[in-house]
Amino acid sequence: MSFITILIPVFNEEENLHELNVQITNTMKNTKEKYEILYVNDGSKDNSMDIIKQLQKKDRRIAYIDLSRNYGKEVAMAAGFDHARGDAVIILDADLQDPPELIPIMISEWKNGGYDDVYAKRISRKGESFMKKSTSWIFYRVLEKFTKVPIQRDTGDFRLLSRKAHEALRQLRENCRYTKGLISLVGFKKKAIEFERQPRFAGKTKWNYIKLLGLAIEGITSFSIMPLRFSTIFGFIISITAFIYLVIIVLKTLLFQDPVKGYPSLMSIILFMGGIQFIILGIIGEYLGRIFYETKKRPLYFVNEYYAGDHKNKKRISAH
Ligand code: UDP
Ligand code: MG
Repeated sequence: MSFITILIPVFNEEENLHELNVQITNTMKNTKEKYEILYVNDGSKDNSMDIIKQLQKKDRRIAYIDLSRNYGKEVAMAAGFDHARGDAVIILDADLQDPPELIPIMISEWKNGGYDDVYAKRISRKGESFMKKSTSWIFYRVLEKFTKVPIQRDTGDFRLLSRKAHEALRQLRENCRYTKGLISLVGFKKKAIEFERQPRFAGKTKWNYIKLLGLAIEGITSFSIMPLRFSTIFGFIISITAFIYLVIIVLKTLLFQDPVKGYPSLMSIILFMGGIQFIILGIIGEYLGRIFYETKKRPLYFVNEYYAGDHKNKKRISAH
Protein backbone atom coordinates (compact mmCIF):
# COMPACT_ATOMS: atom_id res chain seq x y z
CA MET A 1 0.00 0.00 0.00
CA SER A 2 1.30 3.43 -0.85
CA PHE A 3 0.65 6.87 0.48
CA ILE A 4 -0.75 9.31 -2.03
CA THR A 5 -1.03 13.09 -1.86
CA ILE A 6 -3.91 14.67 -3.71
CA LEU A 7 -2.87 18.26 -4.23
CA ILE A 8 -5.60 20.80 -4.87
CA PRO A 9 -4.94 24.51 -5.48
CA VAL A 10 -7.93 26.51 -4.30
CA PHE A 11 -8.84 30.07 -5.14
CA ASN A 12 -12.42 31.14 -4.41
CA GLU A 13 -13.96 27.70 -4.80
CA GLU A 14 -16.49 27.67 -1.91
CA GLU A 15 -19.28 26.18 -4.05
CA ASN A 16 -17.15 23.28 -5.22
CA LEU A 17 -15.23 22.08 -2.18
CA HIS A 18 -17.92 19.93 -0.50
CA GLU A 19 -18.80 18.07 -3.69
CA LEU A 20 -15.12 17.69 -4.59
CA ASN A 21 -14.27 16.28 -1.19
CA VAL A 22 -17.13 13.77 -1.38
CA GLN A 23 -16.12 12.61 -4.84
CA ILE A 24 -12.46 12.21 -3.92
CA THR A 25 -13.26 10.36 -0.71
CA ASN A 26 -15.56 7.97 -2.58
CA THR A 27 -13.03 7.32 -5.30
CA MET A 28 -10.21 6.75 -2.86
CA LYS A 29 -12.31 4.34 -0.80
CA ASN A 30 -12.32 1.97 -3.77
CA THR A 31 -8.57 2.13 -4.32
CA LYS A 32 -7.73 1.03 -0.76
CA GLU A 33 -4.69 3.33 -0.83
CA LYS A 34 -3.65 5.54 2.04
CA TYR A 35 -3.81 9.19 1.14
CA GLU A 36 -3.87 12.81 2.19
CA ILE A 37 -5.85 15.56 0.51
CA LEU A 38 -3.67 18.64 0.54
CA TYR A 39 -5.65 21.81 -0.07
CA VAL A 40 -3.56 24.85 -0.93
CA ASN A 41 -5.64 27.93 -0.25
CA ASP A 42 -4.25 30.54 -2.61
CA GLY A 43 -5.52 33.64 -0.81
CA SER A 44 -9.22 33.00 -1.45
CA LYS A 45 -11.49 35.93 -0.71
CA ASP A 46 -14.59 33.80 -0.11
CA ASN A 47 -15.21 31.13 2.53
CA SER A 48 -12.99 28.47 0.96
CA MET A 49 -10.55 28.43 3.89
CA ASP A 50 -13.34 28.03 6.48
CA ILE A 51 -14.82 25.19 4.46
CA ILE A 52 -11.44 23.45 4.25
CA LYS A 53 -11.08 23.75 8.02
CA GLN A 54 -14.58 22.33 8.52
CA LEU A 55 -13.80 19.42 6.21
CA GLN A 56 -10.53 18.83 8.02
CA LYS A 57 -12.29 18.59 11.40
CA LYS A 58 -14.27 15.63 10.05
CA ASP A 59 -11.40 13.95 8.25
CA ARG A 60 -7.85 13.72 9.55
CA ARG A 61 -6.54 12.78 6.14
CA ILE A 62 -7.05 16.37 5.08
CA ALA A 63 -4.04 18.66 5.21
CA TYR A 64 -3.95 22.28 4.22
CA ILE A 65 -1.66 25.17 3.48
CA ASP A 66 -3.02 28.66 3.78
CA LEU A 67 -0.86 31.01 1.70
CA SER A 68 -0.37 34.60 2.82
CA ARG A 69 -2.07 36.00 -0.29
CA ASN A 70 -3.08 35.07 -3.84
CA TYR A 71 -0.01 33.98 -5.78
CA GLY A 72 -1.61 32.26 -8.77
CA LYS A 73 -2.05 28.59 -9.49
CA GLU A 74 1.55 27.95 -10.55
CA VAL A 75 2.98 29.07 -7.21
CA ALA A 76 0.13 27.45 -5.27
CA MET A 77 1.15 24.16 -6.85
CA ALA A 78 4.80 24.77 -5.95
CA ALA A 79 3.75 25.27 -2.32
CA GLY A 80 1.84 22.01 -2.55
CA PHE A 81 4.89 20.16 -3.92
CA ASP A 82 6.96 21.42 -0.99
CA HIS A 83 4.50 20.06 1.55
CA ALA A 84 3.29 16.89 -0.17
CA ARG A 85 4.32 13.79 1.77
CA GLY A 86 3.07 11.08 -0.56
CA ASP A 87 4.95 8.47 -2.57
CA ALA A 88 3.05 9.96 -5.47
CA VAL A 89 1.35 13.33 -5.93
CA ILE A 90 -1.82 13.84 -7.92
CA ILE A 91 -2.66 17.40 -8.95
CA LEU A 92 -6.34 18.12 -9.35
CA ASP A 93 -8.35 21.31 -9.98
CA ALA A 94 -10.90 22.24 -7.35
CA ASP A 95 -13.72 22.86 -9.81
CA LEU A 96 -14.30 19.21 -10.78
CA GLN A 97 -13.18 19.83 -14.35
CA ASP A 98 -10.69 17.05 -13.74
CA PRO A 99 -12.80 13.98 -12.96
CA PRO A 100 -11.58 12.14 -9.83
CA GLU A 101 -12.59 8.83 -11.48
CA LEU A 102 -9.29 8.95 -13.35
CA ILE A 103 -7.31 8.76 -10.10
CA PRO A 104 -7.45 4.94 -9.80
CA ILE A 105 -6.31 4.59 -13.43
CA MET A 106 -3.40 6.94 -12.77
CA ILE A 107 -2.42 5.01 -9.66
CA SER A 108 -2.50 1.71 -11.50
CA GLU A 109 -0.35 3.06 -14.39
CA TRP A 110 2.15 4.35 -11.86
CA LYS A 111 2.26 1.12 -9.85
CA ASN A 112 1.99 -1.47 -12.59
CA GLY A 113 3.44 0.39 -15.56
CA GLY A 114 6.25 2.07 -13.61
CA TYR A 115 5.42 5.49 -15.05
CA ASP A 116 6.63 8.66 -13.31
CA ASP A 117 4.27 11.12 -14.92
CA VAL A 118 0.79 9.88 -15.76
CA TYR A 119 -0.96 12.86 -17.34
CA ALA A 120 -4.51 13.34 -18.44
CA LYS A 121 -4.92 14.37 -22.04
CA ARG A 122 -8.12 16.12 -23.12
CA ILE A 123 -10.01 14.69 -26.04
CA SER A 124 -12.83 17.19 -25.66
CA ARG A 125 -13.43 20.36 -23.70
CA LYS A 126 -17.06 20.68 -22.75
CA GLY A 127 -18.39 24.10 -21.85
CA GLU A 128 -15.42 26.04 -23.21
CA SER A 129 -15.79 28.67 -25.88
CA PHE A 130 -14.57 28.28 -29.45
CA MET A 131 -12.17 31.19 -28.80
CA LYS A 132 -10.58 29.46 -25.82
CA LYS A 133 -10.26 26.16 -27.65
CA SER A 134 -8.72 27.71 -30.76
CA THR A 135 -6.30 30.01 -28.90
CA SER A 136 -5.13 27.07 -26.82
CA TRP A 137 -4.66 25.02 -30.01
CA ILE A 138 -2.51 27.76 -31.57
CA PHE A 139 -0.51 28.23 -28.36
CA TYR A 140 0.50 24.56 -28.14
CA ARG A 141 1.59 24.47 -31.77
CA VAL A 142 3.68 27.64 -31.42
CA LEU A 143 5.23 26.43 -28.17
CA GLU A 144 6.09 23.12 -29.77
CA LYS A 145 7.85 24.82 -32.67
CA PHE A 146 9.79 27.17 -30.40
CA THR A 147 11.09 24.88 -27.69
CA LYS A 148 13.48 22.00 -27.69
CA VAL A 149 11.73 20.41 -24.72
CA PRO A 150 8.76 18.35 -25.95
CA ILE A 151 5.66 19.75 -24.26
CA GLN A 152 2.59 17.54 -24.02
CA ARG A 153 -0.26 18.88 -26.13
CA ASP A 154 -3.76 19.46 -24.84
CA THR A 155 -2.76 18.63 -21.32
CA GLY A 156 -3.54 20.51 -18.14
CA ASP A 157 -1.90 20.14 -14.78
CA PHE A 158 -4.07 17.11 -13.95
CA ARG A 159 -1.55 14.29 -13.49
CA LEU A 160 0.16 11.87 -11.14
CA LEU A 161 3.83 12.40 -10.39
CA SER A 162 6.03 9.74 -8.83
CA ARG A 163 8.34 10.59 -5.95
CA LYS A 164 11.23 10.83 -8.44
CA ALA A 165 9.49 13.33 -10.71
CA HIS A 166 8.08 15.23 -7.73
CA GLU A 167 11.50 15.58 -6.09
CA ALA A 168 13.05 16.73 -9.37
CA LEU A 169 10.35 19.33 -9.84
CA ARG A 170 10.86 20.63 -6.32
CA GLN A 171 14.42 21.58 -7.17
CA LEU A 172 13.29 24.00 -9.85
CA ARG A 173 12.79 27.17 -7.82
CA GLU A 174 12.32 29.68 -10.61
CA ASN A 175 9.95 32.55 -9.98
CA CYS A 176 8.51 32.72 -13.47
CA ARG A 177 6.87 29.33 -13.47
CA TYR A 178 5.20 27.33 -16.16
CA THR A 179 4.70 24.04 -14.35
CA LYS A 180 3.61 21.99 -17.34
CA GLY A 181 6.83 22.93 -19.13
CA LEU A 182 8.92 22.25 -16.02
CA ILE A 183 7.45 18.76 -15.81
CA SER A 184 8.46 18.14 -19.42
CA LEU A 185 11.89 19.53 -18.62
CA VAL A 186 12.60 17.05 -15.82
CA GLY A 187 11.79 14.15 -18.14
CA PHE A 188 11.14 10.62 -16.75
CA LYS A 189 8.72 8.02 -18.06
CA LYS A 190 5.46 9.55 -19.22
CA LYS A 191 2.10 8.09 -20.01
CA ALA A 192 -1.02 9.81 -21.34
CA ILE A 193 -4.51 8.79 -20.41
CA GLU A 194 -7.32 10.34 -22.40
CA PHE A 195 -10.38 11.96 -20.90
CA GLU A 196 -13.18 14.36 -21.60
CA ARG A 197 -12.69 17.61 -19.75
CA GLN A 198 -15.86 18.51 -17.89
CA PRO A 199 -17.40 21.96 -17.52
CA ARG A 200 -16.90 23.64 -14.15
CA PHE A 201 -19.17 22.28 -11.39
CA ALA A 202 -19.83 25.81 -10.07
CA GLY A 203 -18.29 29.26 -10.07
CA LYS A 204 -16.34 31.01 -12.81
CA THR A 205 -12.93 30.40 -14.34
CA LYS A 206 -10.18 32.62 -12.93
CA TRP A 207 -8.66 33.06 -16.35
CA ASN A 208 -9.35 35.81 -18.80
CA TYR A 209 -7.68 36.38 -22.14
CA ILE A 210 -5.14 38.84 -20.76
CA LYS A 211 -4.05 36.33 -18.10
CA LEU A 212 -3.96 33.55 -20.68
CA LEU A 213 -1.84 35.70 -22.99
CA GLY A 214 0.46 36.30 -20.02
CA LEU A 215 0.77 32.56 -19.42
CA ALA A 216 1.43 31.97 -23.11
CA ILE A 217 4.27 34.55 -23.11
CA GLU A 218 5.54 32.99 -19.88
CA GLY A 219 5.47 29.53 -21.45
CA ILE A 220 7.38 30.58 -24.52
CA THR A 221 9.92 32.92 -22.94
CA SER A 222 10.84 30.60 -20.09
CA PHE A 223 11.56 27.71 -22.42
CA SER A 224 13.03 29.24 -25.50
CA ILE A 225 15.12 32.14 -26.77
CA MET A 226 13.65 31.63 -30.23
CA PRO A 227 11.94 35.08 -30.25
CA LEU A 228 15.34 36.71 -29.66
CA ARG A 229 16.84 34.72 -32.49
CA PHE A 230 13.94 35.66 -34.75
CA SER A 231 14.63 39.30 -33.94
CA THR A 232 18.25 38.90 -35.05
CA ILE A 233 17.31 37.10 -38.25
CA PHE A 234 14.60 39.64 -38.98
CA GLY A 235 17.09 42.47 -38.34
CA PHE A 236 19.48 40.96 -40.89
CA ILE A 237 16.78 40.56 -43.52
CA ILE A 238 15.65 44.17 -43.07
CA SER A 239 19.23 45.48 -43.18
CA ILE A 240 20.07 43.59 -46.37
CA THR A 241 16.85 44.73 -48.06
CA ALA A 242 17.52 48.29 -46.92
CA PHE A 243 21.05 48.17 -48.33
CA ILE A 244 19.83 46.95 -51.72
CA TYR A 245 17.20 49.69 -51.75
CA LEU A 246 19.88 52.24 -50.84
CA VAL A 247 22.06 51.19 -53.77
CA ILE A 248 19.07 51.45 -56.10
CA ILE A 249 18.23 54.97 -54.87
CA VAL A 250 21.82 56.22 -55.17
CA LEU A 251 22.21 54.81 -58.67
CA LYS A 252 18.87 56.22 -59.73
CA THR A 253 19.84 59.67 -58.45
CA LEU A 254 23.27 59.55 -60.10
CA LEU A 255 22.01 58.31 -63.44
CA PHE A 256 18.71 60.11 -63.78
CA GLN A 257 19.12 63.05 -61.35
CA ASP A 258 15.91 62.01 -59.68
CA PRO A 259 14.22 65.12 -58.22
CA VAL A 260 13.26 64.73 -54.52
CA LYS A 261 10.11 62.74 -54.18
CA GLY A 262 8.92 59.75 -52.27
CA TYR A 263 7.50 61.25 -49.11
CA PRO A 264 4.90 58.44 -48.78
CA SER A 265 7.48 55.67 -49.15
CA LEU A 266 9.76 57.46 -46.68
CA MET A 267 7.00 57.71 -44.11
CA SER A 268 5.96 54.07 -44.56
CA ILE A 269 9.49 52.85 -44.08
CA ILE A 270 10.10 55.02 -41.00
CA LEU A 271 6.84 53.95 -39.37
CA PHE A 272 7.37 50.31 -40.25
CA MET A 273 10.91 50.32 -38.89
CA GLY A 274 9.77 52.15 -35.76
CA GLY A 275 7.10 49.49 -35.15
CA ILE A 276 9.53 46.63 -35.63
CA GLN A 277 12.03 48.22 -33.27
CA PHE A 278 9.40 48.58 -30.55
CA ILE A 279 8.38 44.95 -30.92
CA ILE A 280 11.95 43.75 -30.70
CA LEU A 281 12.65 45.98 -27.72
CA GLY A 282 9.55 44.47 -26.13
CA ILE A 283 10.87 40.96 -26.71
CA ILE A 284 14.22 41.87 -25.19
CA GLY A 285 12.32 43.49 -22.32
CA GLU A 286 10.40 40.28 -21.65
CA TYR A 287 13.65 38.40 -21.14
CA LEU A 288 15.25 41.23 -19.17
CA GLY A 289 12.21 41.28 -16.88
CA ARG A 290 12.59 37.59 -16.25
CA ILE A 291 16.26 38.02 -15.39
CA PHE A 292 15.21 40.82 -13.02
CA TYR A 293 12.77 38.55 -11.17
CA GLU A 294 15.07 35.55 -11.05
CA THR A 295 18.12 37.41 -9.77
CA LYS A 296 16.24 38.59 -6.70
CA LYS A 297 15.89 34.97 -5.58
CA ARG A 298 12.86 35.79 -3.50
CA PRO A 299 11.05 32.91 -1.83
CA LEU A 300 8.21 31.75 -4.04
CA TYR A 301 5.55 32.17 -1.38
CA PHE A 302 4.85 32.71 2.30
CA VAL A 303 2.69 30.42 4.36
CA ASN A 304 0.15 31.73 6.82
CA GLU A 305 -0.69 28.32 8.25
CA TYR A 306 0.19 24.73 7.49
CA TYR A 307 -1.68 21.82 8.90
CA ALA A 308 -0.15 18.47 8.14
CA GLY A 309 -3.25 16.35 8.47
CA ASP A 310 -2.29 14.33 11.49
CA HIS A 311 -2.73 16.22 14.79
CA LYS A 312 0.65 15.10 16.08
CA ASN A 313 2.43 16.72 13.18
CA LYS A 314 0.81 20.11 13.47
CA LYS A 315 3.32 22.80 12.78
CA ARG A 316 3.42 26.32 11.52
CA ILE A 317 5.84 27.56 8.92
CA SER A 318 6.47 31.22 8.31
CA ALA A 319 8.48 31.21 5.12
CA HIS A 320 9.61 28.79 2.49
N1 UDP B 1 -6.40 28.69 -8.92
C1 UDP B 1 -5.49 29.06 -7.92
N2 UDP B 1 -5.02 30.35 -7.91
C2 UDP B 1 -5.39 31.27 -8.84
C3 UDP B 1 -6.30 30.87 -9.86
C4 UDP B 1 -6.77 29.57 -9.87
O1 UDP B 1 -5.12 28.26 -7.07
O2 UDP B 1 -4.95 32.42 -8.76
C5 UDP B 1 -6.93 27.30 -8.92
C6 UDP B 1 -8.44 27.20 -9.00
O3 UDP B 1 -9.03 27.25 -7.73
C7 UDP B 1 -8.64 25.85 -9.66
C8 UDP B 1 -7.45 25.75 -10.59
O4 UDP B 1 -6.47 26.67 -10.10
O5 UDP B 1 -8.57 24.78 -8.72
C9 UDP B 1 -7.81 26.06 -12.03
O6 UDP B 1 -8.42 27.32 -12.12
P1 UDP B 1 -9.58 27.63 -13.16
O7 UDP B 1 -10.64 26.60 -13.06
O8 UDP B 1 -10.00 29.05 -12.91
O9 UDP B 1 -8.82 27.52 -14.54
P2 UDP B 1 -9.31 26.78 -15.88
O10 UDP B 1 -9.82 25.42 -15.49
O11 UDP B 1 -10.39 27.64 -16.43
O12 UDP B 1 -8.10 26.71 -16.75
MG1 MG C 1 -11.26 25.11 -14.18
